[in-house]
Formats: sequence, structure tokens, C-alpha cells
Amino acid sequence: MPKPHIPLEDIRAQVEGCRKCTLADGRTQTVFGVGNPSARVLIVGEAPGKNEDLQGEPFVGKAGQYLNELLAIAGLAREDVFIANVLKCRPPGNRDPRPEEIELCTPYLREQTRTIDPEFIVTLGNFSTKFILKTEIGITRLHGTLQRAGKFKVFPIFHPAAAIYDGSKREALENDFATLGELLRASDAEQAATASAPAQPAPESTAEEAPAAAQPVVEQPHLL
Ligand code: SF4
Repeated sequence: MPKPHIPLEDIRAQVEGCRKCTLADGRTQTVFGVGNPSARVLIVGEAPGKNEDLQGEPFVGKAGQYLNELLAIAGLAREDVFIANVLKCRPPGNRDPRPEEIELCTPYLREQTRTIDPEFIVTLGNFSTKFILKTEIGITRLHGTLQRAGKFKVFPIFHPAAAIYDGSKREALENDFATLGELLRASDAEQAATASAPAQPAPESTAEEAPAAAQPVVEQPHLL
């Protein structure tokens, strides 16, 4: 029998009391995630930075403003999506997450994903992409290609912070968010075509062509 979904507020309470790894010692507060609890798109970043640790919300300040602009390119508002991170506590000095921290913290992300049950998971950067897709293939190769993790459509994109240090990433980020918008519209059209003609023979195709790679690069049997 499938495991029942845990309400988001219960998962949040577990995260707030969590001291499973040493990141608990340096945090101001945990950063659970924010947004629409039944979002169609779940955005998964890496870990809280300084401002996120202070405010208790992912992607605030400049990075948050830029993410909002990128979401708008895809036709999404921040309140449409749910935004979470692989790690819920800030690594000191914004260092990379360590494997043991990812292992201890990601059960929370798994439960969030099960409860929100999105259609798309947008992984921002290497850490979330590698965790969700269980792959060693890097973001440089995977970004902008439609992948799958179990029932979820996964769309890897560079982390917006990468554009701050490397301006050439800005164009790739903006192109990938535009592609995400096309994928969402193509899926809408597909669903509308199915819903409007249930008793008719299938039309040739009224949906837009999926713009990203049709064949997943990563063979991924399951996420949850
Ligand atoms: S990073 Fe995750 S596992 Fe570590 S203390 Fe914070 S919530 Fe717990």
C-alpha cells in the first residue's frame, strides 16, 4: 500500500527541530521552503545562503529577484511554484554541501516532493540535479534537457548564482526558463486535447512539439 503523504506543516516541524547534522550548530534558522503547497512546478536549489539563513526563506535578496525574473520568462509567478533546497540549513561560508549532509537532509526533500506532487521538478545547479536524477552527469551537459525521475518530469537548469560569476550563463538560464514555459504550455495543450475529445478518435496532434530533448539522457528508475 502506498505510504500516506505527510502534511507540509508536519514536515516543516520536523525540519525546525532537526539536529541530525552539524549544520544545525551554525544556523540562524532552518529554511524549509516556500510557495504553493500543490504547485505544478517544484524548484529545487542547493542550500540556504547568508540572507536565506537570516530570513528563513530560500532565494531572497538579489538571487531571489533574479529567480523571479527567470520565472516570469516561463510565465510563472513566484507564488505559483514551491521553492525548496537540498539542504535546509546554511553551510558555513556558503561552502558546498557534503555527501553526509545531503544523505541526512534529503529525506525531508523527498517527503516535500511526495506531498506537493508536482508535474515538473526544476533542479537548479549540480547538487540538486545529481540528487534528483541520481546521476554523475553534470549540469553543463544536462541543463535545458527534459529528464524523468519516476513519475516526475525533471528539467535541470544552471543555478542562478552561476550567472553572477559567469555572465555567459545568463543567456543559458534565460533560454532554459523560456523552454520550461514552452514545456508547460505543451503539456497544457496535451491535457486540453485529451479532456475535450474523450470519445473521439485521437487527433493527429494539437499539442505543440515538446521543445527539449525527447530522450532522457539519464535513465532514472525512481525518485521516491
Ligand atoms: S541541514 Fe538538514 S539534516 Fe542537517 S540539521 Fe539542517 S535540517 Fe537537519
